Parts: sequence; C-alpha cells; structure tokens
Amino acid sequence: MEFATEELTQQVAQTARDFALQYIRPHVMEWDEAQHFPPEIFKELGRLGMMGVLVPEEYGGSGLSYIEYVAIIQEIAKVCGAIGLSVAAHNSLCTGHILAFGNEEQKRKYLPALASAQVLGAWGLTEANTGSDAGNMGCTAVKDGGDWVLNGTKNWITHGISGGIAVVVARTGEPRTKNNATAFVVERGTKGFSGGKKENKLGMRASETAEMIFDNCRIPDANRLGNVGNGFQQALKVLDGGRISIAALSVGIAKGALEAALQYSKERHQFDQPISNFQGISFKLADMATEIAAAELLTFQAADRKNKHLPMTKESAMAKYYASEVAVRAATEAVQIFGGYGYTKDFPVEKFYRDSKLCTIGEGTSEIQKIVIAREVLKD
Ligand SMILES: Cc1cc2nc3c(=O)[nH]c(=O)nc-3n(C[C@H](O)[C@H](O)[C@H](O)COP(=O)(O)OP(=O)(O)OC[C@H]3O[C@@H](n4cnc5c(N)ncnc54)[C@H](O)[C@@H]3O)c2cc1C
Repeated sequence: MEFATEELTQQVAQTARDFALQYIRPHVMEWDEAQHFPPEIFKELGRLGMMGVLVPEEYGGSGLSYIEYVAIIQEIAKVCGAIGLSVAAHNSLCTGHILAFGNEEQKRKYLPALASAQVLGAWGLTEANTGSDAGNMGCTAVKDGGDWVLNGTKNWITHGISGGIAVVVARTGEPRTKNNATAFVVERGTKGFSGGKKENKLGMRASETAEMIFDNCRIPDANRLGNVGNGFQQALKVLDGGRISIAALSVGIAKGALEAALQYSKERHQFDQPISNFQGISFKLADMATEIAAAELLTFQAADRKNKHLPMTKESAMAKYYASEVAVRAATEAVQIFGGYGYTKDFPVEKFYRDSKLCTIGEGTSEIQKIVIAREVLKD
C-alpha cells in the first residue's frame, strides 16, 4: 500500500510495534482483568512522541501526519485495543480540539503538556441522556461577569478521572436551538470539577471510561475555545478526525485477530492435518484478509484527505463504519478458528472479540455513521 510504504511511516510504525510488544504485551491480560489503567505507559509513549503525533513541533509535538498517526494506532491496537483507544482519544479528541480551535495563547498553554503526556487529555461531549443526539445536551455554561459557570455531568469519558486537561462542550443557549453550545478547557483541580463513576466495561478495560462532574465549576472566559455558540460544530469537526483513529484502531484489532488465527490454524491439527487445510477455515482467513485490506484502504484514504485539508466527513464515516464492522467480524471468526481455546483467556482472541465491539459504538455508532454517509451521498 503506497501510503504505508513511505520510509517515515514504516519507521514510526516499527517504533510503535516494538514498544507495544516490549512494554504492553506482557501486561495485557493483567490490566484487562483488573481493569487497571496504566498511566506510566502513556508517559513512555509521550517520550516517544506518540501522545502529540499531530501537534506541530513548535508546540512540543511530533509534527507528523495522519498517515503516521494511523500507523501508530494500528500497531498499538494489534497488541492492546484499550491502550490504542486511550492514545487515540488523547491525540485526536482533547488535543485535536485545542489544536484545531484554540487561539495561540491556549495552544501555547496546553499543547506542550498534552503532547509530552505530562497530562492526559479528556474530551466531554456525551451525557447520560444524550449520546447519538449529543446536540441536545443538558450540561450548561452560564456567563457570570468575566467567567463561565459549568453545571452538569458528562458520561462515558475516556480519562474522565485521570485527564489533567478536559475539553468540555456545554450548552450556552436554549435547548434545541441552533448554535447553542460552546467548548471550554477545564483544568483538573478547578473547584467544582471532579471525576465520577468509573464504568466496568465488556472490553477496552485498561482504558479509563468515567463521568466528569461539574458543580458550579467556575472558569475564566480565557478558557473558551472559539466563539460562543460554535461548540457543537467544532465537536463534529473533531469527530471527523477522531473517526479516522477509531477506524485505525479497528484495523489494528482486526489485524491482531487475523495474525493470531493464521498462526493457530497452521499449528492446530485435527483429522491428522492442520486446520488451515480445511476450506471452511481457509476461506474465513481469506475473507478476513480481504476485508481488512479494504478497511485499511478506506482508513488511509480518509487520512490522506485530512492531511490535504480536503473535505472528509463522508470518507472518515465510511472508514469508521466499515473498519469497525470488519473488526467485529474478524475477531468473531478468530474465536471460531480457535474453537474452545478461543473461548478462554489463555489466548488473545477473546480480548480482541470484546474490545472490537467498542469500535462500532464510540465516536458515533454504526447507525449514526450510516446517517452521515447517506446525508453526504444524497448531496452528490
Ligand atoms: C469505551 C467508551 C469510551 C467513550 N469515550 C467517550 C469520550 O471520550 N467522550 C465522549 O464524549 N463520549 C465518549 N463515549 C460515548 C460514545 O461516543 C457514545 O456511547 C456513543 O456516541 C453512543 O451514544 P449512546 O451510548 O448514548 O447510545 P444511544 O445514542 O442511546 O444509541 C442507542 C442505540 O440507538 C441507535 N440510534 C440512536 N439514534 C439513532 C438514529 N437517529 N437512527 C438510528 N439508530 C439510532 C444507536 O445507533 C444505538 O444502536 C465513549 C463510549 C464508550 C463505550
């Protein structure tokens, strides 16, 4: 594939692969079972430049493109989807929002700490009653002199407890009106801002998912990102980029499942031969490999358009939708190829199976992606 064969992309991918194999793989199941979120891993990834992949060097980042970013997320997700999810959310949601919509002062203040992983980023859009319908949010920000006072709760937030810097989209206008939301940066330690319940999840268990609670949380107007009323439109643009990372996460998980299934199918003997000799198994592998290649092409297509500043709402939704469904199918088939062993925690495929499901839900469900794609194709 042309995109991924660039020397720089290969080098970056190799570094991510080596790190994941040496420092993540030995702990994958221990972290998963204990639902342990390992902050030290992100510090190390920060030292390698993988927590500020898209941040220009002048703000302390690596200044790489979306192509390298996709390669990094894939390599980490091949080993552990949960760490991949946290790296993706940190880079493209919180950091990505400040990079795209922060003013110069905000970028200088927040990006170096995020890019080095001195602090982790959180990004709060979803609430208990507003997920797909995020524009109908209940969390409010009310102007009081030179400050804003935030009240409400954001749910399902990656790094909702551990994130040192949070971007929060809150309602600043009347419910169900246009341009009624605004984005703010809230620093951990601000009075009235706390982490809440940590979710006990099916998969992605080493990635922290938790509530962020705002109780008369007062922040200065200097923490407002962009214009009053632009918050939801900003969030949609951030999600266009974020969906490329979920597509990359999905491709990584699917590749991890395929690698494991390929190896096992050659080693496992039944009826005096490797099970890969059976067409019923080899055709599964063929379907997995074909779908993964297609998902990867869609992902690189969206990344390439993002790099070139071309419209990519449709392409990122297509990549996210297709790749996430492929990840679920590939992980399901991998469990099937492993038979009974695939149903145990002694082999990696049951974790790919659990982790993959998040990809069809987070940053817009498959149904929401189809709404986005349909809207775009009907425009043409
Ligand atoms: C592990 C994890 C991490 C997350 N991290 C973050 C984060 O960092 N920040 C953040 O803001 N959010 C985060 N989320 C939230 C995530 O984006 C939402 O869960 C997702 O957008 C879906 O919202 P919901 O869960 O409320 O489902 P709902 O919106 O209630 O949807 C339920 C079902 O109804 C379907 N549905 C809804 N509307 C329609 C429609 N119009 N047409 C057809 N079907 C429809 C959905 O597709 C889904 O199948 C995270 C979620 C998880 C699980």
